[in-house]
Amino acid sequence: MRRLRMSQHGEHLSFGLRAASAHDRRGCIEVVCGSMFSGKTEELLRRVKRARFAKQTVLLFKPRIDNRYDDVRVVSHEGIKAEATAVAGSAEMLACVEQVGLGTAQVVGIDEAQFFDEGVITVAEKLANAGVRVICAGLDQDFRGQPFGPMAALMSIAEYVTKLHAVCTRCGAAACRSQRLVGMEGQLFVGGAADYEPRCRRCFVPGVVEG
Ligand SMILES: [Zn+2]
Repeated sequence: MRRLRMSQHGEHLSFGLRAASAHDRRGCIEVVCGSMFSGKTEELLRRVKRARFAKQTVLLFKPRIDNRYDDVRVVSHEGIKAEATAVAGSAEMLACVEQVGLGTAQVVGIDEAQFFDEGVITVAEKLANAGVRVICAGLDQDFRGQPFGPMAALMSIAEYVTKLHAVCTRCGAAACRSQRLVGMEGQLFVGGAADYEPRCRRCFVPGVVEG
């Protein structure tokens, strides 16, 4: 019998004397979210690394829109890297997983999940129902402080949600929001380190570009 317990970060850990077969493994959805610079990607990559240490079949995806640092890798602000498949959307991601096989893929990691289409919600549910551990990392709020893309729905259907915080650049409190510092059109703009700064609720000015 497998025993499940939660780690400090709400991470789903499984212990057992035998490897889980496709028949008895349980899928789930984990969401790691927070503002810019809150360490979401580091946490995703930490979980992916642990799963790979456990010799699990791990697939890592990122949206093709995000080419900040590297086209085929997930790279955190701290410079930690992992090989990832860049996909145009949730349909392409599902096709990639199905190519490997729903009974073979054990962990599916998704970075920058906020940039995915709404279909990612159905895909995450489908994968989890098929026994896959789905880990979604992304911004929970856009620069206006509003729910970002599919993140709110992913959080509500997830078994485990981890909200990480950065440090407010103005006052040093825990930061939950991303202040945009440059004028750009639309929610989809992908910023680098210089374009946003983490702010707390009190110091954040919604949707306003501040220097
Ligand atoms: Zn503050």
